[in-house]
Amino acid sequence: MEDKKLAIVTGGSRGIGRACCERLAKDGFDIVFTYQSNEEAAKETVKLCEKEGVKAEGIKRDVANSDECQKLVDEVVENYGKIDVLVNNAGITRDNLIFKMSDEDFADVVDVNLKGPFYMMRAASRKMNKGGSIINISSYAGVNGNIGQVNYSATKAGIIGMTKSLAKEVARKQITVNAIAPGTIETDMLNQVGEKQLDEFKKAIPMRRIGTPEDIAGAVSFLASDDSNYITGQVLCVNGGLAI
Ligand code: NDP
Repeated sequence: MEDKKLAIVTGGSRGIGRACCERLAKDGFDIVFTYQSNEEAAKETVKLCEKEGVKAEGIKRDVANSDECQKLVDEVVENYGKIDVLVNNAGITRDNLIFKMSDEDFADVVDVNLKGPFYMMRAASRKMNKGGSIINISSYAGVNGNIGQVNYSATKAGIIGMTKSLAKEVARKQITVNAIAPGTIETDMLNQVGEKQLDEFKKAIPMRRIGTPEDIAGAVSFLASDDSNYITGQVLCVNGGLAI
C-alpha cells in the first residue's frame, strides 16, 4: 500500500486552519498542525482528522520563533520521513488606525504573519518532496488594503511577494508555491466586528454572504492536489466576488 502524503498546517486549532486540516485529512493526507495556546481546540482538530482515517498531531509552536519552526520541520521529517504540503495559515490582527497603532502592534503582526511563513518555508522547502506544494494564506487586505489594517495588510502583501519569489526559486524541483487571499470569513477573527458592520460587509460582497472556513479549505485542497501541478506563483482570491 502506498504511504500517505504529509501536510503541515500552521494555526490548525481553529477557524480556517482547522477546516484545512479536516479537508486535507479527507483528501488522505496525514496531518501535523501547530497552535499557539488553545490545547482543547487542538485536540478537537486531531479528533476530526482522525475520523478520516489518517494520522493527526497538534504541536504547540510559536511560528514567530525561528528555532521552533526549524525544530518542527526537523521533527516532522524524522517522524514521517517527508513533507508534501505546507499551509502557512497562522495569523493575527492588531487593528487600529495608523495614528493609534503602536510599534508593538506593528511588530507583533509582522512577527507572526510574515516572519512565521518565512521561517516555515525556509525550513520546509529544503526538505520538501518533488511535486510538493506550499500554500500561503494571504488576505483581501493584502491585495486591496483595508482601513485600520496597515500592519496586517503589509504582512499579507508581503506574503504574496514571498510566494512569487519562492515559486521561482523552487520551480525546478517541481514544487509549487501559491497564495490564497480570502475575503471576509466567519471565524474567531471576526469576533471583534459588530453585527452592523457584518451587515455592511455582506452588502459589499456580490454573493451577499460571509465566506466559510470550508470555502478556503476547498481552494487549499485544490492547490495541494496533483490537479494544480502546473500552477505556481499565483494568488487565488476567494471572496464571493468582493474584488473583481
Ligand atoms: P483564527 O484567529 O480563527 O485562528 C488563528 C489560528 O492561528 C489559531 O489556530 C491560533 O492558535 C493560531 N496562531 C495564532 N498565532 C500563532 C502563533 N504565533 N504561532 C502558531 N499558531 C498561531 O484565524 P482565522 O482562521 O480567521 O485566520 C487564518 C488565516 O486566514 C490568518 O492568516 C488570517 O490572517 C487569514 N485570513 C482570515 C480572514 C478572516 O476573515 N477570518 C480573511 C483573510 C485572511 P490558538 O488556537 O492556539 O490561538
